[in-house]
Amino acid sequence: MNQSIWKVPLADIDIGQTEIQAVEAVLQSRWLSMGEVTARFEADCARYFNRKFSFAVTNGTAALHLACLSLGLGPGDEVILPSLTFVATSNAVIYTGATPIFADITSLNDLTISPAAIERKITPHTRAIIVMHYGGYLCDMPAILKIAREHGLAVIEDAAHAPGSTFNDNEQKAGAFGDIGCFSFFANKNLVTGEGGLIVTQRTDLADKIRRMRSHGMTSLTWDRHQGHAHSYDVVALGYNYRLDEMRAAIGLVQLEKLDANNQRRREIDIKYRRAFAEHPQLTMPFNHTRCSSACHLFVVLLYRSENRPAFLEYLRKHGVQTSLHYPPVHRFSYYRQRFGDQEGSFPLTEQVADRVVTIPLFANMNSEQIEIVIQAVTGFTG
Ligand SMILES: *Cc1c(COP(=O)(O)O)cnc(C)c1O
Repeated sequence: MNQSIWKVPLADIDIGQTEIQAVEAVLQSRWLSMGEVTARFEADCARYFNRKFSFAVTNGTAALHLACLSLGLGPGDEVILPSLTFVATSNAVIYTGATPIFADITSLNDLTISPAAIERKITPHTRAIIVMHYGGYLCDMPAILKIAREHGLAVIEDAAHAPGSTFNDNEQKAGAFGDIGCFSFFANKNLVTGEGGLIVTQRTDLADKIRRMRSHGMTSLTWDRHQGHAHSYDVVALGYNYRLDEMRAAIGLVQLEKLDANNQRRREIDIKYRRAFAEHPQLTMPFNHTRCSSACHLFVVLLYRSENRPAFLEYLRKHGVQTSLHYPPVHRFSYYRQRFGDQEGSFPLTEQVADRVVTIPLFANMNSEQIEIVIQAVTGFTG
């Protein structure tokens, strides 16, 4: 067992006998790299996200990189994205030689990228927008897709937080709005395979590029040759090895089956927290009014005063409750400041959130005692 100093860790996973047996079956089968199990995982994901094409990849960062590559992004191109995201969203743009252009979030209630801010950042060099569904809460996709259409821009969704999030008024899922949807199955996400990721798209032209670029730019795969479909191959582009292996795909198949029920469990805990903290004198909760049914990847609170945050973090730590900060904004990182200049002050809402936000534990298999510990600790902090 993984011993923890925390009574309630920030996140935990739901892995059991089914996953263990699935991995064992792969090992017994003696085919370990991308093959039949990965193909089944991809087919199930394509059905779940209701997209024509789905590609399992090494991790979420590789998914984002392939998404950028498939759109042909390169030097001289600009991509608009939030600074309030995990750094990989932005690094993926830089890998291609393109330039990340940050835009502020919508408000202190809606921490997703602002459509109006996106519009202000568009130049003749803009080629794409990357949105990130913060915490599982969908961006304003109708407004963003309209801007993209008007300006001829591609839309990539970083849906790492949002597998299974849907709009309130229909069943369309996060990742299925833009040209490409990217997911991460890293060890603390809603669906875990350890390392792992996924790309979904409806566009055949992008799918062809993604399929090839995932595997060295080769025209046929080891699996095809194993099945007698091909004897040789050509290399038609500078590709990568971003393949997933069969053990992880086997875990993913089981995890996908559990996803909706686990997201529902997360939503129930989210509702409990919102009720318990509604009148809190020290903090407020973003996404109190939302346009979607969230996968509830994160539960974040915003302290009214940033000066109170150290005491709040210390109070929760003393009560055995682990916390985190999502996110230190990308534009504040040393590498970004050195490369793109100091942009402090350019994104006032993002910066306010960065200074006031705290993420508290939320995971599907939290027991009622753990939920109660978190509620007592948060409500017990009065400043
Ligand atoms: C986790 C995450 C990623 C990166 O995924 P990896 O699988 O860790 O490479 C990208 N963007 C966001 C928003 C994430 O949370």
